[in-house]
Amino acid sequence: MKTRLKILWLQGVTCNGNTHSFLNYPHLSYILETFEFLYHPILPATYTLEEITTCAYECDILIFEGGYDSRMMRINTSMETLVNHYGSHARYVIAAGSCASFGGMLKQSDPEHITGLGFDQKELKGPFAQNDKLINLSGCPIHPEWMGYTLRMIAEKKPISVDELHRPKELYAYLAHHGCTRNEYFEWKVDAEHFGTKEGCLFYHQGCRGPMTHASCNKILWNEVSSKTRVGSPCFGCTEPDFPRTDMFETKTNMSIPQDVPFGISKRSYLTMAGIAKSFHIPRLEQRLIDDNA
Ligand code: SF4
Repeated sequence: MKTRLKILWLQGVTCNGNTHSFLNYPHLSYILETFEFLYHPILPATYTLEEITTCAYECDILIFEGGYDSRMMRINTSMETLVNHYGSHARYVIAAGSCASFGGMLKQSDPEHITGLGFDQKELKGPFAQNDKLINLSGCPIHPEWMGYTLRMIAEKKPISVDELHRPKELYAYLAHHGCTRNEYFEWKVDAEHFGTKEGCLFYHQGCRGPMTHASCNKILWNEVSSKTRVGSPCFGCTEPDFPRTDMFETKTNMSIPQDVPFGISKRSYLTMAGIAKSFHIPRLEQRLIDDNA
């Protein structure tokens, strides 16, 4: 029988969101056939957590979920010991989710001690800072297809090109704005006035971070059918190191001018372009897409 690559899925300070999201991966059977889980908090695995904490084994891929706190204990072993042991033997270390990548949401519970595996927000910090093994799959939670893609690339011995924050470029070179069905509204500055509508862009009134967020949520759809912006909820920028921010349903403005504008565009250029676009009146974009009374 072909030897399967060994995965160890460890959890730090976590809400379990990435584990649960990954269970929605449509090709989970491929993962279970291709890899052996030495330990996973939910999926069938070879060893128990008690056995894993003896550090008597080695894995090919360490997947870490949650914020990293070196002092945290798993049974009688510190997280620092576990991560150092399994991470030093692994060929790849995958940070699953934004807490494992940058500290994320759970860093808020103890900002002094919780970091990602290689970054504290944007700053290099943690046991895998500047380590080429590290692959960050940021997101709150992780998109299951992104983990599936990464594991498949490893299984097929294909190179994974990463950006400066160690995120696979194939998944994170895009912006959440790319592929959003509201792009035409964005171009002509027709804004959604209310939460949850099918029409309008969510940038100006609803806090959408799509044009400033590296993520392929509108290219690789969630559950293969949808995304936040497609159902009328703004992108919160959950794949970026500064997540979470405050007041995520609001676009922060100074004198009615958005505080942040799309990547690569100066504020002056954005305002000029927005002013011209707004001067056009396009009745089609101001109507309901679907007339409930028709
Ligand atoms: S809703 Fe967000 S992602 Fe979609 S077009 Fe508007 S700004 Fe871009």
